[in-house]
Amino acid sequence: MINNFKFKKNLGQNFLKNENIINKIIDKADINPNSLIIEIGPGGGALTKKLIKKSKYVLAYEIDQELNNILNVLKNKNNNLNIIFDNFLNRDLKEDIAGYKVDSIYIIANLPYYITTPIIQKIIDEQINIKQMILMVQKEVGERFSAQPGNKAYNSLTVFLNYYFNIKKLFIVNKNNFIPIPKVDSMVVSFSQKSKIKLINEALFFKIVKESFKYKRKTIKNNLKDYDLNKIEKVLIENNFNLNTRAEQIPLEVFGDIANELSI
Ligand code: SAM
Repeated sequence: MINNFKFKKNLGQNFLKNENIINKIIDKADINPNSLIIEIGPGGGALTKKLIKKSKYVLAYEIDQELNNILNVLKNKNNNLNIIFDNFLNRDLKEDIAGYKVDSIYIIANLPYYITTPIIQKIIDEQINIKQMILMVQKEVGERFSAQPGNKAYNSLTVFLNYYFNIKKLFIVNKNNFIPIPKVDSMVVSFSQKSKIKLINEALFFKIVKESFKYKRKTIKNNLKDYDLNKIEKVLIENNFNLNTRAEQIPLEVFGDIANELSI
């Protein structure tokens, strides 16, 4: 199907060729049939052709017009598939999905790795009610997204994303399962809806988290020296930490308590 296709490295084109992996990704989502699945980067349609069997509607965004021939064959055979040939990052998602009358929305994708974080950021910014996302990302990036406090991969991005989602590492995919073979292995990660911690001032929480991780070797006392350290210390001690703790040890909820204490 993708014979003669010239893969574009700059678009993160590494297509899945192992059917078992494709099935495993799809099986990890508990898809309600009356749902919309959004796929970012269908490529040659490896995942798409299975997704259309799983739910009422599939909406895929592909930036590469040269995949038009391959993807339109699939689209013409399946009237529950819509493909938008455009840059996902430039779309108005709310407008794109406005016409779908469904119970729930899922995002399932083998992401173009050069824009993994911008894609997730966009999904968050659009404030769409998404039941679950199953995303394939670079292994190291997946480790970061799902890291626990105390792990060296845990940083401000981890805290930020875990504020919005329950993030779970599902499985590792060896790089030999792709064509062309990328430099690194991949990981499939699940993002599911969660009830957010209660914050008085969300912007302050994000600022505190970012600044806490600013200088990796420094303690909270140093990174947050411009804030009321007495208030911060009070929260830290209540949670069995102190001002000499480093940000990488501190759970999301404690950052929330610090931001709330500073907001009073
Ligand atoms: N889903 C296919 C698979 O698993 O075999 C292809 C995945 S490949 C890793 C990523 C796909 O995303 C490519 O088809 C690429 O052209 C597409 N892509 C890259 N940047 C994009 C963007 N900004 N918007 C939409 N699609 C994009």
